[in-house]
Amino acid sequence: MSDEAGHIAERKMQFLFALRSRGVTDARVLAAMERIDRGPFVRGIFAGRAYEDMPLPIACGQTISQPSVVGLMTQALAVTPRDKVLEVGTGSGYQAAILSQLARRVYTVDRHRALVREASALFAALDLANIIALTADGSFGLPEQAPFDRIIVTAAAEDPPGPLLAQLKIGGIMVLPVGQSDAVQRLIRVTRSETGYDYDELRPVRFVPLVEGLGRDG
Ligand code: SAH
Repeated sequence: MSDEAGHIAERKMQFLFALRSRGVTDARVLAAMERIDRGPFVRGIFAGRAYEDMPLPIACGQTISQPSVVGLMTQALAVTPRDKVLEVGTGSGYQAAILSQLARRVYTVDRHRALVREASALFAALDLANIIALTADGSFGLPEQAPFDRIIVTAAAEDPPGPLLAQLKIGGIMVLPVGQSDAVQRLIRVTRSETGYDYDELRPVRFVPLVEGLGRDG
C-alpha cells in the first residue's frame, strides 16, 4: 500500500471508531457508513476534512451534517430493506446515500436546485440507482409518492410539519430536529400508531432551519 492509501485507510478506521464511540452501534448502519465514502460529498477547501466527525460547509450556505449525527439519526429511523423513505434536506446527498444502502427506495428533496443537481450527479456516478432527488419545498412532503414508511428531516422546524405527519404510514417512523432555528434543537422520533402519534426525545442537536419556499436558484 502506498503512504497516501495507508493514510486514507487509517483515517477511515478512525472515522468508524468515532462513530462507535458516539453511540452508532447498529451493524447495518455502520456497514452502510463504511461503504459510502464521505469524501466525494465534501467539496473545495473542506475536502481534506471529510473524515472528521464535524459538520462542514457545502454550497448554498448549507452544511453537511456531522457523521455521528447522521449515524444516530439513521439508527433511530430503524430502516428495513422494504422501506420507502423520504428525506427532506438533500444538501450534499450524504445522508440519502447512506439511506440508499438500507432502504428499497429513497426520495430526497431540497429547496435549492443547485444542491439537487450536484447530489444527483454524485448518485449517478456512485451507481446509487434507488435514490430520486427532486427540487421541492419539503415542508409539504412529497404528496405524489406518499405515504412513506420512514421520513427523515435534516433541517429544523419549530414543530413537526403537519403534511409530513400525514404522509407517514401507520407503523411508520419519522426522525427530525425541532426547535428555534438559532437555539439548540431537540432531535425527536415520531412513531405513528393506529390511534395517533407517539413522540420520544433523543438528544440535543443543531441544524440549519427548515425554510419555506424554493431557494432563489430553485
Ligand atoms: N442531509 C444533508 C444535510 C442537509 S442541510 C446532507 O447529508 O448533506 C439542510 C438542507 O435542508 C439544506 O440543503 C437546505 O437547503 C434544505 N432545506 C431547508 N428547508 C427546506 C425545505 N423547506 N424543503 C426542502 N429542503 C429544505
